[in-house]
Amino acid sequence: MLTRFTTPRLGLILPAYNEQEVLPTTLSKLNTIKETLIQKNLISDDSFIMVVDDGSVDNTWEIIQEKEQLNSDLIGVKLSRNFGHQSALLAGMSESIKLADIVITLDADLQDNPDIIQKMVLKYKAGNEIVYGVRSSRKTDTWFKRNTALTFYKISSFLGVEMVPDHADFRLMSRVAVLALLRLPERNVFLRAMVPLVGFQSDKVFYERGERQAGTSKYPLKKMLSFAIDGITSFSVQPIRLLFNLGILVISIASIEIVYTIFEKMIGNTEAGWSSLMISIWLLGGINLVAISIVGIYIGKIFTEVKQRPLFQIETETGLFVEKLRKVD
Ligand code: UDP
Ligand code: MG
Repeated sequence: MLTRFTTPRLGLILPAYNEQEVLPTTLSKLNTIKETLIQKNLISDDSFIMVVDDGSVDNTWEIIQEKEQLNSDLIGVKLSRNFGHQSALLAGMSESIKLADIVITLDADLQDNPDIIQKMVLKYKAGNEIVYGVRSSRKTDTWFKRNTALTFYKISSFLGVEMVPDHADFRLMSRVAVLALLRLPERNVFLRAMVPLVGFQSDKVFYERGERQAGTSKYPLKKMLSFAIDGITSFSVQPIRLLFNLGILVISIASIEIVYTIFEKMIGNTEAGWSSLMISIWLLGGINLVAISIVGIYIGKIFTEVKQRPLFQIETETGLFVEKLRKVD
C-alpha cells in the first residue's frame, strides 16, 4: 500500500576506491535503471548518481570527470585521501542529502544487484524510512568468508550489537533517517550497527549478491578482521563484562581450592608450601581479573560518553517549525 504520493529525488551513492576497471560499466547500468524509474514516475527527473572517489590512485577520478561532461546527472566527490569505505559512504550521504529526498548506497563493483532499486523505492513509498538490502544466500562467497561472516554475526548479537544479518551497506535511507544518522558524532564509523540505532520504520529487500564485475576486492582478510573487531568494540562494552564474570569464576574456584587445601593440610596430605602457593595463585589471579575489569568497565563508560550520541531523535514536528526547519536545511 502506498502512503507517499510524491516523486522523490533519488541520489545513488557509490564509494569508489581504485575502481577504474568496473566504474564505466556500473555507471551505464545505473543510468539505465535511473532512467527507467524516472519514466515510471517513481523518482523525479532530477535524480542523480554521486560517486565518492575515496582517494583512488588509478584513473577513477578521470573517469568520473569524463562521464560528468556527458551526463549532468552525475556528481563526483573527491576525498583528499583514502578514508575508507565507511567514511566515503558518510561523505556521500552528507553531500547528497543537501539535494536528495532519498539516497541509496551501493558498491561500485555491481555486487549489490541494482535491479532491486525499484523495490527499495516502492518500500519507501509504502512509508519506510530505511530499506535494507539483505542477501538471500551466500552462494557466491567462499566457504571461509561465509563462515567467518556467520561467526561475526553470532558474536555480535551475543554481545548485544544490533545489526541486520547479511546486510552490508546496500540500503535506502530517507532524508530524516540520513539526518538522524549524521547526528551520531562518533569517530568509529560502523554504519551497519549505527543505522539501526536511529530508529524509524524500516523494511528489507532480499537479493542475490553477484560476483565483483571487474577489478579486485578492496577488503583483504586483514582489513576484514580489523573491521569486524572495530565494529564490535565500538558498539559493545560486553567484552569487559565477560572479563569481570571470568574473574568472579576464578575467585569462586579459588574458594573451593582454599577449602580443599585446608582439608588436605589437616589430614597431612600435602608437601610444604603447596597450600600457600595454590591459594595465592588462584586468589590473586581472580582478584586481579576483577580489579582490571572494574577499571575497564569505567573506561568503557567514558568511551561511550566521549562519543556524545544524541539521546533521542524527534521524528515529526508540526506547525510553524516545519517551514522554518526546511529553510535551515
Ligand atoms: N571502497 C572504498 N574505500 C576503501 C575500500 C573500498 O571506497 O578504502 C569501496 C570500493 O570501491 C567498493 C566498496 O567500497 O565500491 C566495497 O569494496 P569491495 O567491493 O572491494 O569489498 P568486498 O565486496 O570485496 O567486500
Ligand atoms: Mg565488492
